[in-house]
Amino acid sequence: MRILLVEDETKVSSFVARRLMAERFAVDVAPDGQSGLELATTYAYDLIILDLMLPKMDGSQVLRRVRSQNDHVPVLILTARDAVADKVGNFEAGADDYLTKPFSFAELLVRVKALLRRGPVSRSSVVRVGDLELDRLSQQVKRAGKRVELTSKEYSLLEYLMSNAGRVLSRTMIIEHVWDQSFDGITNIVDVYVRHLRNKVDDPYEHKLIRTVRGVGYTISNGAQP
Ligand code: CA
Repeated sequence: MRILLVEDETKVSSFVARRLMAERFAVDVAPDGQSGLELATTYAYDLIILDLMLPKMDGSQVLRRVRSQNDHVPVLILTARDAVADKVGNFEAGADDYLTKPFSFAELLVRVKALLRRGPVSRSSVVRVGDLELDRLSQQVKRAGKRVELTSKEYSLLEYLMSNAGRVLSRTMIIEHVWDQSFDGITNIVDVYVRHLRNKVDDPYEHKLIRTVRGVGYTISNGAQP
């Protein structure tokens, strides 16, 4: 298991590196953000331990740049800052865990082992069906690279369909997921919204993605008509 440690405080980095090597990990140390990014994008690490306050390039920037090329390597953030806003910001940018300084080596090791055990996870926020893509973070939808403007209900409906691509979803399932449980309005609400959605997502294109499964409900897929 090869670990990259990006940390500018030599006292911390030499101590952590020495202890990790004693645990039989291979460890590379980068003393600033820029060299950390270079190493992270050159070698296939099993884990990256990243300090936030770094010379040359800030840890959050390193994280964003690493994630733009590699969405699966686990990243453990080390920092003296413990503001909640920072935590949220970094988790959104793709950190997997967070450790506030000062920490004990035992504490670090527990987290390192947990992340390695879990292994690589895909954290992509983008779902695709054919040339249709939906980004759960920015809530943007594009078809063939062109932005599609949806109302919030249309977006929720499309997200539910796309998250279950290839599965046939009944009107009841759709109502329960997209409208709230207590919904008892007009019974053809799903059909009305699917029509709105098709109007924007399918009608301008030759290849149709949303399909009606007669007597059952709807499905979205890039394949042939079921
Ligand atoms: Ca630092």
